[in-house]
Amino acid sequence: MIYKRSSALFNEAKQYIPGGVNSPVRAFKAVGGDPVFVKEAKGAYLYDEDGNELIDYIASWGPLILGHAYEPVLNAIIDKAKKGTSFGMPTEIETDLAKLAVSMVPNIDKIRFVNSGTEACMSAVRLARGYSGKDKIIKFAGCYHGHSDSFLIQAGSGAVTFGSPNSPGVTQGTAKDTLLANYNDLESVKALTTANKGEIAAIIIEPVAGNMGCIIPTEEFITGLRELCTKEGILLIFDEVMTGFRLGTGGAQEALGIDADIVTFGKVIGGGLPVGAFAARNEIMSYLAPEGPVYQAGTLSGNPLAMSAGLAMLTELNSRPEVFESLADKTEHLHEGFDNVLRTKGIPYQINRYGSMISVHFTDAPVVDFASSAKGNNETFKTYFHGMLNQGIYLPPSAFESYFLNDALSYGDLDKTIDALKKVF
Ligand SMILES: *Cc1c(COP(=O)(O)O)cnc(C)c1O
Repeated sequence: MIYKRSSALFNEAKQYIPGGVNSPVRAFKAVGGDPVFVKEAKGAYLYDEDGNELIDYIASWGPLILGHAYEPVLNAIIDKAKKGTSFGMPTEIETDLAKLAVSMVPNIDKIRFVNSGTEACMSAVRLARGYSGKDKIIKFAGCYHGHSDSFLIQAGSGAVTFGSPNSPGVTQGTAKDTLLANYNDLESVKALTTANKGEIAAIIIEPVAGNMGCIIPTEEFITGLRELCTKEGILLIFDEVMTGFRLGTGGAQEALGIDADIVTFGKVIGGGLPVGAFAARNEIMSYLAPEGPVYQAGTLSGNPLAMSAGLAMLTELNSRPEVFESLADKTEHLHEGFDNVLRTKGIPYQINRYGSMISVHFTDAPVVDFASSAKGNNETFKTYFHGMLNQGIYLPPSAFESYFLNDALSYGDLDKTIDALKKVF
């Protein structure tokens, strides 16, 4: 396939936008070459500026779980837009979306809407600190919680890809309040809670990680984490920006059978428009302004277009939860197909999968945390990525990202993808 116009557009963009993109992973730095400029998309397909049709495995990094330009979501946005796009005043639809989200997700009474996953996680931590009166937090190496200062300590995906796990501009003062543990390693968490007894406000985790590839928590680890938090009076924050409304109507809390104290959302909850959210029980949410003292605000928060997209998306998912099974089946089909191809090629690989999240790692040891994920062979990944792209398969352009399947993908698309893999190696 030819990507000539994309390359020309990228060169022009680089003159006016740092690196030519508004979010680093889009620039293809980890895989080399120029990024694909997309013109439009429908269902499972992207149509780029060179007229290529690509099968999409990122779905805007998760939000478009039912495919691109999904009619009910689209129509909701169009209808709403005609009535005005922003007011800075309360609207009924905010309550409609809040009510629906609270009914779908276990263990939450109230929800506050923001504009991104970053804002959601940043605000959740402020709330945890305000509520508990403690400063420190624990995060896990390779987990990504957005780009706010406290989290840019060994963050996954973009931050790792660019070799700047500790970004310049994050002060020592901020960094010292973020303690780092290893995923699937309860002992590493216990060592921190023991050494910082009574000082830790919260532990934040991707309950199924997706920013160092897809990594599944062991039952022992995630149950142990819950018990430890309860015992030590630490708030457990599930960052469900990726897993919320993707692993099921109740997200990872429901899938894993674990209650978190605060939950953050993004991606699917906005149906493709910029929405983030954080939620908890009344007791915790009542600390938030204007009810309580912890400040948090947003000019465009609860924006009517964004709310209408989110409401249409969640309504759809809630009315046919079997879609999550359909997605998991499709992901399993892809997994089996990839397994069959890669097994015959003699290349070391691991495939991790949970629900509709899946990732391929070119290493012979199980990928269970950031260190094992980082052992993947990036040269092999580059060959794989470009080999697939040349055949019209659009995968995440970094070995540290999970793929996000969307329900518009047909079994024909999946088989085409598996066939493409046969021709790569
Ligand atoms: C994407 C993501 C974020 C950040 O969300 P943005 O909307 O990009 O700010 C936070 N946490 C997780 C787990 C994510 O996958």
